[in-house]
Amino acid sequence: AISAQGPGLRAGLWPHARGWSPSDLGRPAWAAQNALVTELATTSRRLYQTVPTSLQADIDKSAHKKQTGVSLKHLLDFGTQPLERQMLLSARFLHAEIPIRLAHRLKDLSNLPEALSNEPHVRRVKGWYTASFADFRSFPAIKDGVDCVKFTAMLSNAFRRHNNVVPAIAKGVEVYKRELERTGESTEARESEIQHFLDTFFLSRIAIRFLAGHHISMFDPPRPEHIGLVHTKCNPFQVASDAVAEARAICFREYGSAPQVKMLGNSELTMAYVPSHLHHMVFELVKNSLRAVQDRFNDSDSEPPAIQVVVAEGLEDVTIKVSDQGGGIPRSGLQRIWTYLYTTARSPLPEVDIDTSNMPAVLAGYGCGLPLSRLYARYFGGDLQMISMEGYGTDAYLHLARLGNDEEPLPGSV
Ligand code: ADP
Ligand code: MG
Repeated sequence: AISAQGPGLRAGLWPHARGWSPSDLGRPAWAAQNALVTELATTSRRLYQTVPTSLQADIDKSAHKKQTGVSLKHLLDFGTQPLERQMLLSARFLHAEIPIRLAHRLKDLSNLPEALSNEPHVRRVKGWYTASFADFRSFPAIKDGVDCVKFTAMLSNAFRRHNNVVPAIAKGVEVYKRELERTGESTEARESEIQHFLDTFFLSRIAIRFLAGHHISMFDPPRPEHIGLVHTKCNPFQVASDAVAEARAICFREYGSAPQVKMLGNSELTMAYVPSHLHHMVFELVKNSLRAVQDRFNDSDSEPPAIQVVVAEGLEDVTIKVSDQGGGIPRSGLQRIWTYLYTTARSPLPEVDIDTSNMPAVLAGYGCGLPLSRLYARYFGGDLQMISMEGYGTDAYLHLARLGNDEEPLPGSV
């Protein structure tokens, strides 16, 4: 049950977000020792092609434990006062909780159809999850500030290890799907099984990375108006403008030109939100619109019509609409846009060296832009809808709930 708590927030249910200044905080001295954090990073380079029996037993046991959700309010309250005691509590919580979540995902990964579960990219991902699980489980109880710093270093290291999970899984599923199509085994039941797995898997990833990132950011130099990853005065207009500029640059690179994008709405509006999530979502929507408009007007003599991005302020939600005249999506295709790997982009996924590079920024082709953006929106109680007028254009509505008291949605509840 996800519901926005906007009015509650306005009524001051969330007092710490107001008038908070990081310089007021009695930040523990060791929290500033970033150099130490980096230095202590324990790099476990094992890839776990085969998993030792005792470790596997531990994973199986942990996969039976229940995952514990966290309310955002709790994280924000904690984040306003990152004192030593609270940092310790946070570290201890993550020390116990993250391996449980990793174990659940490992179990899901091994329950996939064998051809997918054993696909090399997917095996690689399993290796990363196993390595991180092992790091957490071998980390001793956290007793004091020094342990906490070491733990945070280990956590940062695990965080980086998982950077390329999305392209790796996308590539793995792509390979598997091609194989199914070749052998004629592709069925709707199979597809929806994979879809369900990916929704769960990626939502869990968003959640773990948010919790971990929030904790890690407490060790960064304090930033004004920030509580961990949450910007208490995030300006959606500004974030959207930045995402637009970045998307247009990529469009320019691929097509040699980019349609105009007009920004409308309140440019002063601020809300509590995670800017990186918002950036990601708007970036994906605008890239889609740019591509649609560009393709439609590529050979036309007339100037392509501008894309419009509107930021609207409601009591519950802030909504961002991205409107284009790129020809829309046929009604029969509207369901498929939410499936991972559904793309009408021509090029196949680029071969990425998943160990070293990040996901190359391309205008389109992964097919997970929309479903992932919807998960990001839903993680904080928002949503994403696409409305199309075939032959004319598409409107994307991105609803952002004003952050409130909601529990984080855990896989299974969405
Ligand atoms: P990708 O962009 O990598 O193809 P997405 O999930 O972002 O993956 O989009 C999936 C598909 O949905 C696109 O390939 C395209 O066919 C369709 N689509 C999405 N947005 C639009 C839009 N604004 N106009 C027309 N088609 C769109
Ligand atoms: Mg896209």
